[in-house]
Amino acid sequence: MSERDATALVLFSGGQDSTTCLAWALDRFARVETIGFSYGQRHAIELDCRARLREGIVKVRADWADKLGDEHTLDIPTLAAISETALTRDVAIAMGDDGLPNTFVPGRNLVFLTFAAALAYRRGIRHIVGGMCETDYSGYPDCRDETIKALQNALSLGMARPIELHTPLMWLTKAATWQLAHDLGDRGLVDLIRDQSHTCYLGERGARHDWGYGCGQCPACELRAHGWHAYVGGGA
Ligand code: ZN
Repeated sequence: MSERDATALVLFSGGQDSTTCLAWALDRFARVETIGFSYGQRHAIELDCRARLREGIVKVRADWADKLGDEHTLDIPTLAAISETALTRDVAIAMGDDGLPNTFVPGRNLVFLTFAAALAYRRGIRHIVGGMCETDYSGYPDCRDETIKALQNALSLGMARPIELHTPLMWLTKAATWQLAHDLGDRGLVDLIRDQSHTCYLGERGARHDWGYGCGQCPACELRAHGWHAYVGGGA
């Protein structure tokens, strides 16, 4: 079965990257389902953005409305219990001695992708799409292409069924990710992502900037603002 006839499951957090991945999957596959995770992160607001984004994205292109299928939310409270980070505790975001921001939840993407693969298996889905990226990232080792490829092998072996992990943003800058959104869904998609997706580590939604909502100070906001300005300035 070709990808044009297949179903994909998109890791969908409600952020810029995963929304762009959702559009990429809607462009490429016959049917698309979404999965989000709840694990006690303090920016639960990001999960609240998911419904608005799903409602909005089916209006961007008429053919997408027919393709967007079920959404799934999995609770993984254990992840918070084993993580002592700024995402799950009320502490300031800082860089650790290991060069990683303390927002890092060790192995988080491995856990997400493994749960996604288990759900995909149950639903007969082969293709999983995630927004992992090596280019403009904070050094998370579970976003590396090598990590994803190794996990794809492990999942396919461990489930005795081919699982394909797609990471369309792996080699894109944040500006190029905005450009991809434009290529897929024109201004309608760019405006939807800018206004409704959420990236800020602090979970702030109050302040409106030209690149969207967020505190404007945390590493995620800085990355997003930098990417937006490179995009509108033609620096993609
Ligand atoms: Zn922020």
